[in-house]
Amino acid sequence: MCLENKIPFPPGRENWGFVNDLHKPADFHIHWAPPFSSDVGSLDLSKGAEPGFKFPDPAGVLETANADLMKFLKTGNIYRCGGIPVLCCHADMPEAESFRLEITRKGINILSGDSEGIRRGIYCFEEMLLGAKTPALPFGVTEHKSWLRNRISRCFFGPIKRPPFNRDELMDEIDYYPDEYLNRLAHEGVNGLWLTIVFRDLCKTSIAGLKPDAEKRLEKLRGTVAKCLRYGIKTWAFCIEPAGWLPGDPLLEKYPELQGPWGWDKYCFCPSSDTATQYLYESTNWLFKQVPGLGGILNISHGERETTCLSRVSATDNSAIPCPRCGTLPHWEILRRSLSAMRQGMRDASPSAELISWLYMPQPAPLADWVYELPRHTPEGVILQFNFESGGCKNQLGHPRCGGDYWLSYVGSSDHFGCIAAGAAGSDTELRIDTKTKSHFLLPGSLCSWHDGVVPLSKRIVVDHG
Ligand SMILES: [Zn+2]
Repeated sequence: MCLENKIPFPPGRENWGFVNDLHKPADFHIHWAPPFSSDVGSLDLSKGAEPGFKFPDPAGVLETANADLMKFLKTGNIYRCGGIPVLCCHADMPEAESFRLEITRKGINILSGDSEGIRRGIYCFEEMLLGAKTPALPFGVTEHKSWLRNRISRCFFGPIKRPPFNRDELMDEIDYYPDEYLNRLAHEGVNGLWLTIVFRDLCKTSIAGLKPDAEKRLEKLRGTVAKCLRYGIKTWAFCIEPAGWLPGDPLLEKYPELQGPWGWDKYCFCPSSDTATQYLYESTNWLFKQVPGLGGILNISHGERETTCLSRVSATDNSAIPCPRCGTLPHWEILRRSLSAMRQGMRDASPSAELISWLYMPQPAPLADWVYELPRHTPEGVILQFNFESGGCKNQLGHPRCGGDYWLSYVGSSDHFGCIAAGAAGSDTELRIDTKTKSHFLLPGSLCSWHDGVVPLSKRIVVDHG
């Protein structure tokens, strides 16, 4: 009997049932139970509270958080005109996202030096009330600050622009980031999302010109960036650049200096010429000028596909690079050249944007010597990212199991990561961590690339019961 015909085809992406759930508001459950008579050490809100939004918000990025607070108070049945004031105000607090929560007999003040601190303060206030047995909060002043600057997630619904789907989310009409989904991510501490781009799809340079669909892609990217920023979420351009060349690319005939050695199915991009530097500078410069508010670039610089001539060798290979220009350079210099040009183009267009260089080196085997040189030679201002678990080893069923990536039973860190971290610690290089284990572990200093749980965002640093 043939079972094949009885197995239904999976639904297409547009018909996935959980996508509808992304549009639904997050559930929250209030557990307040009468009597609501507050003790003398708490501010009783049961008779009503009224928010006051006094923090300057010319760009309107706090409208979503303010609406969230209003909805929360109304759902809890404690919103009342003339009630106890819950004021969001500016205070001189220079550290990004930090905020102060003052609970006194006169009311509640949420204070910060920046809009994202106010957002965090509003969410914190809501969470404190959700955790209370009555609508009352203890008097006191607390200050909070984030311990992790970039908390980047990947939309579960977002497609991948590579096999087997090869789908470009900038070319369709689907909204991958519904408002309520973004609201939930923001409440969970996420402040970054990545989506995939390719420079040649949407960047204009004096080397490669502009593709016909570029403006369509840019328009959707601009819209996504603006929408996410309303929830305090930056959009990161994920890419694997400089991308390698397919055989016969007409640009290689015109600019042969851009062609590096053959990789595994493409030619590497040679970064060791003025043409290459110009191309990379102009690509990132164009991108960040065209898309205001774009948060940064999350770039796999080595390990996933052909990029620079350094891709000619795997992370475990100490061989020389067979390129007439790069072959005489130390390996780290090849990467440094491409990253420097990308960083400068980005920075000249958007000084606050950040560039993360991700070394995707999941091999369990010992890594090549040159890999450990990379942290010491990463260009100033470029953040180095490395897999947290790759190369780790664990005893299972009496045998050591050494693994690459996507661990489910190993937390890390691996020795590979430890050596990279030691190199970064001995230089000015900032290090980020990629953790892909589907766990709820998130270690201090880590970067959550695959968001799968509540991110503990802030830590209380001052407690002053008044
Ligand atoms: Zn080269």
